[in-house]
Amino acid sequence: MSKVVLGGGLGGLSAAYYLAKTAPKPAITLLESSARTGGWVKSTPQQNGIVFEQGPRTLRISGDAGLNTLQLVEDLNLGNKILPIVSSHPAAKNRLIYAHGRLNSLPNTGIQFITKSTLFSKPMGAYLFNDLFAKKKDVHDEPIYDFVERRFGKEIAENLISPMICGICAGNAHEISVKFLMRKMFELEQGYGSLIVGAFKYFSAQRKVKKPKKVFGPLAVKAKQQKWSIYSFTGGCETLPLALSENLLKNNVNIKLNTSCKSVTFDGKQATLTLSDNKTISTDHVISAVPSAVLGALVQNQHPDLGNLLTNLAKNVSVGVVNLHFKDNILKDQAFGVLVAPKENLPILGIIFDSCCFSGKSSGTALTVMMGGYWFEQHFGKNPTEQKLLEIAISQVKHILNVQSEPETSKVNILHQCLPQYIVGHDDTLQKINDYIDTHNLPISLCGASYYGVGINDVIMSARNAVNKIA
Ligand SMILES: Cc1cc2nc3c(=O)[nH]c(=O)nc-3n(C[C@H](O)[C@H](O)[C@H](O)COP(=O)(O)OP(=O)(O)OC[C@H]3O[C@@H](n4cnc5c(N)ncnc54)[C@H](O)[C@@H]3O)c2cc1C
Repeated sequence: MSKVVLGGGLGGLSAAYYLAKTAPKPAITLLESSARTGGWVKSTPQQNGIVFEQGPRTLRISGDAGLNTLQLVEDLNLGNKILPIVSSHPAAKNRLIYAHGRLNSLPNTGIQFITKSTLFSKPMGAYLFNDLFAKKKDVHDEPIYDFVERRFGKEIAENLISPMICGICAGNAHEISVKFLMRKMFELEQGYGSLIVGAFKYFSAQRKVKKPKKVFGPLAVKAKQQKWSIYSFTGGCETLPLALSENLLKNNVNIKLNTSCKSVTFDGKQATLTLSDNKTISTDHVISAVPSAVLGALVQNQHPDLGNLLTNLAKNVSVGVVNLHFKDNILKDQAFGVLVAPKENLPILGIIFDSCCFSGKSSGTALTVMMGGYWFEQHFGKNPTEQKLLEIAISQVKHILNVQSEPETSKVNILHQCLPQYIVGHDDTLQKINDYIDTHNLPISLCGASYYGVGINDVIMSARNAVNKIA
């Protein structure tokens, strides 16, 4: 019995980890095309204790997927490396939005909901009441922008949801499916005609349903008691994939670095993978944790319909990530960071206030500027230099935060095709892909950021579910 995991990002590493825990333990090979595991998760600690993150920088606690990751963290003995941010911390509470040519605080207390802010022309709470009078539209799926505009009005769609979508997946709210972020709300509208009415009825009914009691591990209990909101690790987010890789090596998982898969073919209950050195590996099951478009190309020859579905599922966008460190404290507001409303047409998606989250030993300011995404080519052309992105990032920081200081250190990474876009129809295409795999009895499972959510927690959960399905 042998299993092959394709891709050594967090999805592939987690899949191999959960596979190694199944009984009887199969022989596991993990194929990774680059020289390291971890995929987009890459942390570069600086001398002052600040960590420059190229990709993810915080994990969420909330939801089943958040608890699942905490359990994994506990199993890997990483509990003592967690750097939590509690819910009362400014980085957990405060969000800024750049709109109307200025910085605005997002309302985050009851009183701010009923008083006017600089972001909206009415108190934010007033927009909620739009929902009671808004007409329901019978649709199977739609852009998240359209849904929010219909239910809460244009200002919420433009100044809140659009920048949020930039922050989560660097995407365009006019194209991203409502189900990506607001599935439950969409279902309430479709079921009850109004979110407020629907939520009331739904939660009243839920109260009567007896649910099995959730069992929390010690780390989850601690997180709950201490009100953790988000967290990272000593050494940065890469601590997690590094610990996973170490665990896999101890469990005799054969990690093949610098080994790219060139094609996957199926023959009855077997799959054969052709590698970059033209050698082949046969296995009774493949777990794919590479982007869907990459897998699409690998199966295209033998299964063109499946290849097309995978290629069209989630196109990825590129992001420029510029880490900056300033000697002095240049921040006037303590917050997680600032998101830019796309209608401002600025060449950046947002700025994360890293030193407000985790300050290390530094008294200065660490920031990360996220750039491009859906609008990458429009702003920077096909192949911008790192120097060009650095100059734009610094000038935008000066402009948005109203500072004059120059950074003392910086790091630029251009992450090509790094974030999948769950556009309208994502669910249907994914269903067709799963149906194709089932009806053709193909020995392959899918996990990773292209399918069931783009965050770290989603990716780890998708790996666990993929393994559970075959185990
Ligand atoms: C800029 C940025 C910021 C982010 N911030 C956050 C955050 O703060 N919090 C959060 O929860 N999430 C965040 N994310 C999302 C998170 O990083 C991803 O969900 C996660 O890293 C994806 O893991 P993956 O394994 O699915 O994919 P990947 O990391 O893309 O891994 C896929 C792996 O497959 C390998 N591969 C590709 N083709 C082949 C082939 N043919 N053969 C063999 N190997 C191959 C690649 O080299 C890669 O290592 C962020 C992402 C980005 C890009």
